[in-house]
Amino acid sequence: MFFWRKNQVRTRFAPSPTGYLHFGSLKTILYDYLFAKQNGGKFILRIEDTDQTRQVEGAIESLLKTLKWVGLALDEGVFLNAGGKAAERGHFGPYTQSQRLKIYQEYARKLLKAGQAYYCFCSSERLENLRKEQEAAKKPTRYDWHCRHLTEDEVKAKLDKGEKYVIRLKVPENQEVEFTDWVRGTVKINTNEIDDQILLKSDGFPTYHLAVVIDDHLMKITHVLRGEEWVSSTPKHILLYAAFGWTPPEFIHLPLILNPDHSKLSKRQGDVTVEDYRADGYLPEALINYSALLGWNPGTEQEIFSLKELIKAFDLRKVHKAGAIFDREKLDWLNSVYIKKLPLEKFVELAMPFFLNVIPTKPERRVEESLRPLTKGSLDFAMANAIAPLGMTKEMVRKILALEQTRISKLSEVGKGMEFFFTEKLDYDAKILVWKKSPPKADSPLAKNKTAENLESLIKELESYPAGEWDKNKLEEKIKNFIKEKNLDNGSILWPMRVALTGLQKSPTPFEVADILGKEKTLERLKNAIEKLKSNI
Ligand code: GLU
Repeated sequence: MFFWRKNQVRTRFAPSPTGYLHFGSLKTILYDYLFAKQNGGKFILRIEDTDQTRQVEGAIESLLKTLKWVGLALDEGVFLNAGGKAAERGHFGPYTQSQRLKIYQEYARKLLKAGQAYYCFCSSERLENLRKEQEAAKKPTRYDWHCRHLTEDEVKAKLDKGEKYVIRLKVPENQEVEFTDWVRGTVKINTNEIDDQILLKSDGFPTYHLAVVIDDHLMKITHVLRGEEWVSSTPKHILLYAAFGWTPPEFIHLPLILNPDHSKLSKRQGDVTVEDYRADGYLPEALINYSALLGWNPGTEQEIFSLKELIKAFDLRKVHKAGAIFDREKLDWLNSVYIKKLPLEKFVELAMPFFLNVIPTKPERRVEESLRPLTKGSLDFAMANAIAPLGMTKEMVRKILALEQTRISKLSEVGKGMEFFFTEKLDYDAKILVWKKSPPKADSPLAKNKTAENLESLIKELESYPAGEWDKNKLEEKIKNFIKEKNLDNGSILWPMRVALTGLQKSPTPFEVADILGKEKTLERLKNAIEKLKSNI
């Protein structure tokens, strides 16, 4: 089978699985993906799990789940199989570094043979002392070449004795290392400033530097995209490519994402992981759209981009050099745009788990919080166990959610401020029923009387409406006509109506609320309001 053609663009994302996906990584993945797709290339996921001290149980699966949710499909490498477990596909595997130890060991030996690397037998105590001495003398901390000068016989004797060793790169003396980064231009450094890197550790595991170079080469990666924090490692990689006699790939170091105060985006300042945003009710389309704009702009007014549009418009050559400021308001706005675009059925599915978290159903009946959209079965379950006991119907919930869809910017806002819909007896001060601009002073018995009178005539009017005409548009049209006929101000009817139905001074329109409550509950709440006014005069 023909699976690779010369010059085919191949990008990779190479996370060390920590259990979550930082927003900056999402940007890297997206740019990897877009660049591969727009060049007819391949996007690969490789797991860099050679740091045994940093292993987190289930981290790979959780990362893959997040990636799947985000919706950026990879072509090769590690993916989540139907059983929810990590699996691999592709011809350049294994794609998990801990399964490639033999490969790294073999290549490290090649470097030893070629005189490009050497055995180092220094104990950790010696290295620790060396570091302390250098620090005390305010010198850069680096290896002092102690074992670089060992003779072949000395090395052999130590190996025969079974002494523990690491393998270090023999960094050439006083030479310029240079590479061109697409974002930062030419980067140059003298080798005298580069430490003799450890390539293979005493436990036979490679360091990041050795593994990344071998893998990028063997997996035929053409463009390495990664965070700016790796720029200083790249000269070491260039030296390794040279030592092996390989051509390095292109390098594109993406600028960091910054807080508004220009500090590095970190957990301390709030949410930084894709998982945090998912749990807060952001849609993957919004996160992708926003990530694309974090460090690139199309040079036009367009801000809303589907993935397809991004594949067309994105230009890796135009990535900004400066750090991108994370603008939460803009992300919220984008999310609200994507929320509004959802078909209602889809929105209901996505919003229900969040809605169930805010309704006051007794805890033992409460449906477990779940980030998964509800299936039909679990929706019925939620209805029976959490919604029906509140005196609400499925239709009411759908209508509440339809209203929410137009006003929220993230799913976790669903139902907040809407408690009045499922509160049996509203608790509010009768005073607020009086419209502030009504002629007698709001506090006066006269004003309260007048308000009660207005509500009474409204009740009479509403009682005459057939149940089939009880929807927000018809209600609005008819009630406004009624107000005109009575020669009243809109506020003198609509204000007390809204407060009577919600107990709040700020809420959706009285027509929307009455529509959702239904005729019976609406009339009941209006009557309660009149009682409140009368007992308060
Ligand atoms: N494993 C590195 C990380 O965790 C990958 C760096 C690279 O892309 O070379 O970010």
